[in-house]
Amino acid sequence: MTDCLFCKIIAGDIPSNKVYEDDLVFAFRDINPQAPTHILVVPKEHIASAADITKNNSAVIAHIFEVIPQIAKSEGLKNGFRVITNSGPDACQSVHHIHFHILGGEQMSDKMA
Ligand code: 5GP
Ligand code: ZN
Repeated sequence: MTDCLFCKIIAGDIPSNKVYEDDLVFAFRDINPQAPTHILVVPKEHIASAADITKNNSAVIAHIFEVIPQIAKSEGLKNGFRVITNSGPDACQSVHHIHFHILGGEQMSDKMA
């Protein structure tokens, strides 16, 4: 998508601090970290949100969940981490290209909302 921020980051048109890339997936550090480690994992294919996952595009989402533990390990998140995806206005999704936040590096709140 031409006017999508994360498509532009994946294409390298907007710089990012990349932590992982393969044929299907791109991961980079969040510009406004909310934990000592805060990484965004995105599919290279433009999927708008978790509400748009279907049988036809879910393979890349499964792949993301294979990549996430590798990233967590390489970031040294031995004591755990949190994975979040915000979908739609009630969840305050601000970038409409599905992304999974990996948060870690400190004891987090037991509240999620
Ligand atoms: P959301 O609110 O949609 O779940 O998360 C969007 C995330 O993208 C936010 O945590 C925000 O800090 C991050 N973000 C927004 N613009 C940029 C950018 O240009 N570069 C990077 N690395 N992160 C961004
Ligand atoms: Zn996109």
